[in-house]
Amino acid sequence: MGQLNTFPLSYKVQGQRIVIVGGGEEALNKTRLATKTTAQVVIISRHIEADFSGFAVEMVERALVPADLDGTALVFVAEEGADAELAKAEARTRGIPLNVVDVPAECDFYTPSIVDRAPLTVAISTEGDAPVLARLVRARIEAMLSPRIGKIARLAGSLRKTAESLIDDGAARRRFYEALVTSPEIEAAEQSGQGIAAATDLLNQHAAGESRGVVWLIGAGPGSEDLLTLRAQRLLQEADVIVHDQLVPSVVVDMGRRDAERIDVGKAKGHHSFSQAQINTLIVRLAGQGKRVARLKSGDPMIFGRAGEEIAALRKTGIDYQIVPGISAALAAAADTATPLTLRKVSSGFIMATAHGADDSDLQHWAALAQSGLTLALYMGKSIASEVAARLIAHGALPATPVGIVVNAGRAGKSTYSGTLATLAAGQVAFSDGPAIIFVGEAVEAGDWADAAQLAGMSFKVA
Ligand code: SAH
Repeated sequence: MGQLNTFPLSYKVQGQRIVIVGGGEEALNKTRLATKTTAQVVIISRHIEADFSGFAVEMVERALVPADLDGTALVFVAEEGADAELAKAEARTRGIPLNVVDVPAECDFYTPSIVDRAPLTVAISTEGDAPVLARLVRARIEAMLSPRIGKIARLAGSLRKTAESLIDDGAARRRFYEALVTSPEIEAAEQSGQGIAAATDLLNQHAAGESRGVVWLIGAGPGSEDLLTLRAQRLLQEADVIVHDQLVPSVVVDMGRRDAERIDVGKAKGHHSFSQAQINTLIVRLAGQGKRVARLKSGDPMIFGRAGEEIAALRKTGIDYQIVPGISAALAAAADTATPLTLRKVSSGFIMATAHGADDSDLQHWAALAQSGLTLALYMGKSIASEVAARLIAHGALPATPVGIVVNAGRAGKSTYSGTLATLAAGQVAFSDGPAIIFVGEAVEAGDWADAAQLAGMSFKVA
């Protein structure tokens, strides 16, 4: 990120003067901005030409005198001549920040584009480089923010003292404020003049501890931040704690609220990692403390995510939960390689199956896969890929069945491999680092594997 030549801040002008030297259109423009504040706005010029009648300002039609700048927080110079020069010199001597309209070199500060939902203000600045861009960005932000959001911010402000006396815990108080500013009911109540009553009800509910903890089982997708759903992103922003697996890359975990607590329950191999029972206990305990817990899992939580055990633990303890689907690795791998998993007249369905959980003795598992005639998407099979191929052949799959493998699907550093069950079974492949999906089936051939490493042509490490 580049460095700024200006420091963005909100400058207190309450109880002070903002002096605008000039009486034309430029002075009027600055008046519009200045009168958004509670400062006393004073227009000083020998020639007042523009129409200032709609603004609560003090008009002074005479030459400037130094005393005009007493008690002044900001000075705008919007004309040229002796008064302008005096104003500049006087402002500099007194150290009052100065803006000279259209002369950036003489300015101590610039005025940003503003989205005004007082007390909420969004200021957009390009340091004068691209005012058009500032206006475009402003229009987008205007569209994003409800016109009532400022009123609701005032409601929050008016309840501040009561909230502090009723809710001791800082995190619980923050949950109340978040509910207040995001609730559609409060917005509707505000619109019909019932805002304060509705907000007070909400506060009493939260004070009575009726704000309950919750666990969101969230699918993080294959590992890119733009393959998260909007719902997943919103909940990550609302969560107090993010409990994530090691397979979820930090770019995705970083999408959560900055000050949310983060717990990695699947530290890299060799380090301490949590058992499933410990994870169940952890999320139940956190939600029991009234926290909103984002349990972030790679791909989709309901596919090889051990969601079943976590849901059972939550049900047993009566804790609220919600499941947010995610893009499973097989779907990302299919997209990466343009492989249709179902294909008319070729494959009438596809199977997501584990390559690992089922061992050699699980004959039914392997027989069902080998004889399904459907596209197989095998999870957790990278380290035993050649054994898997051999087993499928042993259970009746044709050795010539196409195979495609995607390592790091849906991520920047993906790599692909293609061949047949026979070539995969022939030896152990040195795949690149990262999780992998193994596709098996006739439909795989319809994908785009042109850049894939050929399994047959690779140097195999014989296991
Ligand atoms: N719930 C996850 C699966 C978790 S099991 C999902 O729906 O995707 C872990 C297995 O998922 C890995 O062994 C690997 O087979 C697969 N996997 C997860 N992320 C992957 C990725 N980005 N690329 C390829 N395979 C991935």
